[in-house]
Amino acid sequence: MRVALVSVGDELLAGDTVNTNASWLGTRLTERGADVERAVVVPDDIDEIAATIASLHDRYDAVLVTGGLGPTHDDMTMDAVARAFDRELTESDEAVEWLEAHGGYERDDLATGTTDLPSGARVLHNEEGVAPGCVVDGVYVFPGVPDEMKAMFESVAEEFTGTVEAVEFVYADEPESALLDRIEGVRERFDVSVGSYPGEHVRLKVQSASQEEATAAADWLAEHVTLVEDQR
Ligand code: ATP
Ligand code: MG
Repeated sequence: MRVALVSVGDELLAGDTVNTNASWLGTRLTERGADVERAVVVPDDIDEIAATIASLHDRYDAVLVTGGLGPTHDDMTMDAVARAFDRELTESDEAVEWLEAHGGYERDDLATGTTDLPSGARVLHNEEGVAPGCVVDGVYVFPGVPDEMKAMFESVAEEFTGTVEAVEFVYADEPESALLDRIEGVRERFDVSVGSYPGEHVRLKVQSASQEEATAAADWLAEHVTLVEDQR
């Protein structure tokens, strides 16, 4: 299953907030075997959000959007989703009734717009906050607040599927440029993909549909590179 992520918020683009939602979703989706193939950050701008969602919706099996829910002036994600699908934005009775039953709210206490969703959307309840999320035709809309987003994602996690690949890591104590021949060597000998991530050491990520193949490739690499001390 091919998935794209959209993170909404001026504060993400300005660097005021680190986009932990995208990395957390990337981890959880990959754990489930879904292929995360795109992550886009967009400003609090209804046209930008709507155009991005419409275009990704055409190209991916699922699009996960975070941020910009609720009734404040910069919250326009639901408007944008409604626009992308050419639907009306209407108050969701189901969302209001759930908040009355579970959140201790009365309909009249809720700020105007809090429970407005694109018509026909499936409601996703917010166990950790107020503003509901929703699903419209493969587009999942989650809150920006990380704890709210995580709880809502877990309520639909089983909808994201795919083949989970085996992963092994080898940590090399050599410059990345010196490792090119061994990286080529392991790719020739085994049916694996290899990622090379330099930092203090070089983290080599070996990935395969077969656990045996991943283990054999990681073992071969471990014999042919200078390992960092605690992997020796
Ligand atoms: P609310 O319903 O409370 O208004 P919301 O869904 O509208 O939430 P935002 O207003 O976009 O969410 O953001 C709420 C908080 O979550 C802010 O502090 C914001 O910085 C943080 N946040 C938003 N997006 C992300 C993200 N991608 N990664 C980490 N934190 C985020
Ligand atoms: Mg908000």
